[in-house]
Amino acid sequence: MNLDKLQQWLQDSNNDLAYISNPITISYFTGYSMEPHERIFALIVLKDAEPFIFCPALNVEEAKASAWDGDVIGYLDSENPWNIIATNVKKRTHDTHNWAIEKDDLSVAHYQLLRGEFPNASFTNDVSPFIEKLRLYKTPEEIKKLQGAGAEADFAFKIGFDAIRTGVTERSIAGQIDYQLKIQKGVMHESFETIVQAGKNAANPHLGPTMNTVQPNELVLFDLGTMHDGYASDSSRTVAYGEPTAKQREIYEVDREAQQAAIEAAKPGITAEELDSVARDIITKAGYGEYFIHRLGHGIGKNVHEYPSIVQGNDLVLEEGMCFSIEPGIYIPGFAGVRIEDCGVVTKDGFETFTHTDKDLKVLPLKD
Ligand code: MN
Repeated sequence: MNLDKLQQWLQDSNNDLAYISNPITISYFTGYSMEPHERIFALIVLKDAEPFIFCPALNVEEAKASAWDGDVIGYLDSENPWNIIATNVKKRTHDTHNWAIEKDDLSVAHYQLLRGEFPNASFTNDVSPFIEKLRLYKTPEEIKKLQGAGAEADFAFKIGFDAIRTGVTERSIAGQIDYQLKIQKGVMHESFETIVQAGKNAANPHLGPTMNTVQPNELVLFDLGTMHDGYASDSSRTVAYGEPTAKQREIYEVDREAQQAAIEAAKPGITAEELDSVARDIITKAGYGEYFIHRLGHGIGKNVHEYPSIVQGNDLVLEEGMCFSIEPGIYIPGFAGVRIEDCGVVTKDGFETFTHTDKDLKVLPLKD
């Protein structure tokens, strides 16, 4: 179990306990997932005593009913949560000197309040890098959930392609995708806001969806994903609405070739930056290098963006079990944008994608 690894790390790194504040991290270690808003939600892990979840009283029952079978301690809105945390920590251990915290998550305000309860303790150690590294390697159960999320993204593309017609807004197409995901697939929420971009809007990779309408002979770019059992999908496809021009087809085919080459090159032993270069070199040789304005990919798991980053300057050697996107794009301002993206997992000798929607350029017939 991953929590054992965290306890082992506490011992090896000379920390007495860890204050885990990021809800995603808590869910990773406990199976209990919740968004606390401004209230206090934490997992306290001690090097040689039982860990506990600390949460608002109104969440205690659901936390107890979740996959987590350890202690759950709640507090009322009228109580001082920091005082209750301190009392429960001191009940378990006298070793409270060295705390590890998630420096990329814990707010300064919360840090000061926690520290106020343990004025002589040290809070200088960061547990975030250890957790990032642990989360780099996905287990078979995690991979199954990522595949489930991928299947929902494939379904979403079908809905989206079918919703394209002359005069429909990007926002309407996105709404139809989200609605059908909810009613046909029971998706609780998307992994990020569904992106639909027509024509020149697609040259801004993260824009929209806007009230811009789809017109004949435009490329339409979709970037979407769902949360499935706590794991994200993220995939992009670009389709032609009506017969594409030679230039539209050319940028599509260059991007497609770059994406395919990177998928084929992804395997244990290649570094993240080498993989980025596989796709980037193809796009550069075709004359579009200046229009590929982001890294090749990002890790995926409980977060839609996590480690590893597939980017120039990252000499991390890719290994079996690492999961990430391969998403080269070509964005020509004032003209069009193309992105083709699949997430997948590094296998023993290759890369297996979680999404399978066809990548031959789809030319959709005009519809009124
Ligand atoms: Mn992505």
